[in-house]
Amino acid sequence: MIIDLRSDTVTIPTAEMKEAMFNAKVGDDVFEDDETVNNLEALGASLFGKEAAIYCPSGTMTNQIAIKLNTNAPGEIICDELSHVYKYEGGGIGFNSGLASKLLKGDNGRLTAAQIETAINPDDVHFPETQLVSLENTCNKGGGTIYELEEIKKINNLCSTKNLKLHLDGARIFNAIVEANYSTQDIGAQFNTISVCLSKGLGAPIGSLLLGTKTDIKKARRIRKLFGGGMRQAGYIAAAGIYALENNIERLKEDHNKAKQLGNALGGLSYVKKVLPVYTNIVVFEVVDEIDYSGIISKLEEKGLRSVAFGPQQIRLVTHLDFTDDMLTEAINILKSLA
Ligand SMILES: *Cc1c(COP(=O)(O)O)cnc(C)c1O
Repeated sequence: MIIDLRSDTVTIPTAEMKEAMFNAKVGDDVFEDDETVNNLEALGASLFGKEAAIYCPSGTMTNQIAIKLNTNAPGEIICDELSHVYKYEGGGIGFNSGLASKLLKGDNGRLTAAQIETAINPDDVHFPETQLVSLENTCNKGGGTIYELEEIKKINNLCSTKNLKLHLDGARIFNAIVEANYSTQDIGAQFNTISVCLSKGLGAPIGSLLLGTKTDIKKARRIRKLFGGGMRQAGYIAAAGIYALENNIERLKEDHNKAKQLGNALGGLSYVKKVLPVYTNIVVFEVVDEIDYSGIISKLEEKGLRSVAFGPQQIRLVTHLDFTDDMLTEAINILKSLA
């Protein structure tokens, strides 16, 4: 048995999800007549109280489209130095949108309104014009941290006052929502655009949604085509997205519970220096200085537990839909066996 905790993207569609895909009514989505894609877009938009949505192949694409439609080069985006849009999207901010990036050091990936305010450039010809703020919730590189709604509201107010657009990289927004005291509607009300991944904890094989106003999503359709993301009978994969939204949100709590148990088990082990707080489905731990952490990753792999390197001496484990109770027991045994 291989227990794959490298990411929550490794899940395989269940029989029920495949059945939904198999039975999907499809058309040509570039002509906007694939009814399953249209239904998925309508479902995503209404869930967050947004006017419209567009279905794309990846979360990188929905983020990059959002950055482009919210800005006009030359200009600047403000985001956390750990954010996916900056760190893990191949330099797309500069390449796709011609923007400079103002990187801030947040609290494990979370920014405050006060911090953002000091980073807004003055109206001076030397500086790129600040145009967009991008937040990430939960924050992957921050170890699955969750924003407070109050802080998001403050940031939104600041952006409105300063005439800045506000984007959310909500690749794992549902992991935040099942833990926090706010709803999809609360989140929808705070952002101009929201990117939501269906292929992470929700368990769909492919796809992300970008949500926004009708005008924004019309622009997004043009940019998606430009980026090569216009798909034809995409309803077959969109059906998995609908299934995921209808069935796999509440159960994310189980992933969080398993992640906490992994975190607790790691706490006492001799090769573990520190376990970062577990907020959602991401567990990050640091290996003691004397032991090379890549050796730990290989030993875990040999015993059937897959993890990934996350930073200096850091290893990440991510729980997901295909990680069963039996696998949890086995994973804890494997982690303990190295001590
Ligand atoms: C996974 C992820 C994305 C999108 O990734 P794709 O692999 O392109 O779908 C965006 N933001 C965050 C925080 C992510 O974890």
